[in-house]
Amino acid sequence: MSHSSVSVRFAPSPTGELHLGGARTALFNWLFAKNQGGQFFLRIEDTDLVRSKDEYTDQILAALKWLGLKWDEPLVYQSKRFDDYKVHITNLLGTGQVYRCFCSKDDLQSARDEGHYQYPGTCRNLTDEGVKQRLNQGIGFTYRIRIPDGETHYEDLIYGPITVNHGEVDDFIVVRSDGSPTYNFTAVIDDHDMNITHVIRGEDHISNTPKQILLYQALGFDVPTFAHLPMILGHDKKRLSKRHGAPGVQSFQDEGYLPESLNNYLALLGWNPGTEEEILSMDELVQKFNLVQVQKKGAVWDEKKLHWVSGQHMMQANTDFILESIRRINPNWGKGSDISYLISIIEMLKQRAKSLTEFIAQSHYFFHAPESYDTAGLKRGWPDKNVNNRVEDIQSVLNEISIWRKENIEKALKVYAAAHELGMGKIIMPIRLAVSGGLTGPNVFEILDHLGKEDTINRIETALNVLPS
Ligand code: GLU
Repeated sequence: MSHSSVSVRFAPSPTGELHLGGARTALFNWLFAKNQGGQFFLRIEDTDLVRSKDEYTDQILAALKWLGLKWDEPLVYQSKRFDDYKVHITNLLGTGQVYRCFCSKDDLQSARDEGHYQYPGTCRNLTDEGVKQRLNQGIGFTYRIRIPDGETHYEDLIYGPITVNHGEVDDFIVVRSDGSPTYNFTAVIDDHDMNITHVIRGEDHISNTPKQILLYQALGFDVPTFAHLPMILGHDKKRLSKRHGAPGVQSFQDEGYLPESLNNYLALLGWNPGTEEEILSMDELVQKFNLVQVQKKGAVWDEKKLHWVSGQHMMQANTDFILESIRRINPNWGKGSDISYLISIIEMLKQRAKSLTEFIAQSHYFFHAPESYDTAGLKRGWPDKNVNNRVEDIQSVLNEISIWRKENIEKALKVYAAAHELGMGKIIMPIRLAVSGGLTGPNVFEILDHLGKEDTINRIETALNVLPS
C-alpha cells in the first residue's frame, strides 16, 4: 500500500443487513477508487461485541459481492485489532493527550441534570496522586481525549470549508470502562494503518470528523481528505429508514433486480454525470464518477425511478445473460422448451420487466395455459356486450389462418374488426385474457404467434367456458 495513490474504505458495522444508504456509500467509494485507479478496502467495525453478529457480516459481504463491489485484501476486522488500539492509549497517556476519567454514570448524569451538555472536565486535571488514589480504590475509569483550545478547520470535498470551534467538542471517551475502544478512536487508527487517503461516508458522520481530526493530530498521523455524502431521504424528506418501507439490499437480489440496475439507481442518489444521461453501465459509472458532481442536499428515494432504470437495464441486457440469471433463480424455468423458443420469449419480455422475478411471473403463460383469469381487472366490464359470441367468431377467424405468423394473425383480425366496425381493443382484450389469463402484456399478435395455432385455439376454447358473457 502506498500513500501516493488513492485508498478508500467502506466500514460497515455488522449490526444489521446492508441497507440502501450503506450500499450507496460503498458504491461511491468503489467508484471513486476505480475511477482513480486506487484501492477499495473493507473494514468490519465489529467492536460492539454485543450487537455485532457474524451472520450480518456474511450478509453484508454477500450483498457487496452481488453488487459487484469487489474489495481489495486484506479485509479488516476491528475485533481482531484490540491490541493495536491499546498501544496507542499507552502512548497518548504518556504525553497527557488522554487522561483517565473516574466519573461514574451517575456522576455524569447529575452533571447533565445540572445543565452540562458536555463533559464538565471533572477528572481533566487530577494530580498524579489523585489518579493513584482512585486506582488503588479500584474505581473504574474511561479514557478521554484532552481537547486543546482553538478550532479545527478542514476542506470537505462535498460540503466545502468547515470550521469547528473546540468549545463545541468535549473531551470524548476513547476507551470505555470495560476496556473497549470507541468508534472515533478505532476509525482513526485503522484509517491510518490502512493508508486511507479519502474518507467517504454519510453526512451523519460529519460531527465525528473534527473529533477524528483532533485524534489524528494527537497521534501524530497525517489527516486524510474527507467527503461526506448527502443523506438518502424518504418522500417526507426525513432520513430513509425501514419506516419508509425501504428494504435492504438482499431483497432487491431476492426480487431479481439486476445488480447493475440497483448500482445505476444508487449512483444517481446524490450524483449525476453532469449530463442528462441516466442509464449507465458499471464501466460508464467508473469512467464518469467524480466527487465534484456529488450534491450537498439530501437525495430522495424514488421507487418509480428505480423501476424505470431497472426496466431500461433489462431491455439492454444480453439475452443469454438474462437466461442464465433466470435459471439461477429458477433452474426449471422453461424446462422442456426449445432454447430458441426461450430466447424469443426473453427478447419479447425483456422490453417490459424491471426484474427477473417479474420476468418469470410474466412468462408463465408461455409454458402453461392460464389457470385463472383476471376478470376482476375488467373494471369497466367488457367493451362488448356479447363477448362470448365475439370470441367464438374470432376463434373461427384464427382457425382459418394457414400460415401462423404474427403479421397474418394481425391482418386477419383487422379484417374482421373492420367488417364488424369494431375497434381493435374490443378484440384484443378478450383474446389476451383468454390466452394469457391477464389484461396486460406484450403485443398480443406476437403472443399468439409464439403459442402456436393449436395452443391458441385450445386456450380460447377453455376460456369460453369461463368468460363472463
Ligand atoms: N461503522 C460506521 C458506520 O457504519 C462507519 C463510519 C465511517 O465510515 O467512518 O456508519
